[in-house]
Amino acid sequence: MPWFARWGRGGGSVEEVRHPRWGDRTPDEVVCARCGEVRDAMEVDRLLWCQRCRLRARNEAGWWGWAIGLGFGAAVAGYVWLVIRPTDLVIGGWIATVVAAVWIGAKIGREAAYGIMRAKRRRGGGEGAGPPLR
Ligand SMILES: [Zn+2]
Repeated sequence: MPWFARWGRGGGSVEEVRHPRWGDRTPDEVVCARCGEVRDAMEVDRLLWCQRCRLRARNEAGWWGWAIGLGFGAAVAGYVWLVIRPTDLVIGGWIATVVAAVWIGAKIGREAAYGIMRAKRRRGGGEGAGPPLR
């Protein structure tokens, strides 16, 4: 018997392969709304995002946060430099203020970017790679 003739025999091992498609899943499996892959229901949150997508979105939001924070810090630095005109004596204090502004701006920007990403996905937007939201 050739090797390929064994496929489909002995308990249907071929049929047990999971297909990441709608309607092809068991009740404890959920299709991720972001990447469109089948995940265990325990791994998916209420927006139907799998753990990997949440981590990736967090990571992406972190970069947005740093960009926003640096922009905010630059604005604060420009304000200090042009409007307040610090003397050499207090420049260290103003640098600390700008660093704090970047830090806080990055934190707020990260949360805002993550929130926007989540809100956008909820309305069914995206790259068109995933399955339609119901
Ligand atoms: Zn996913």
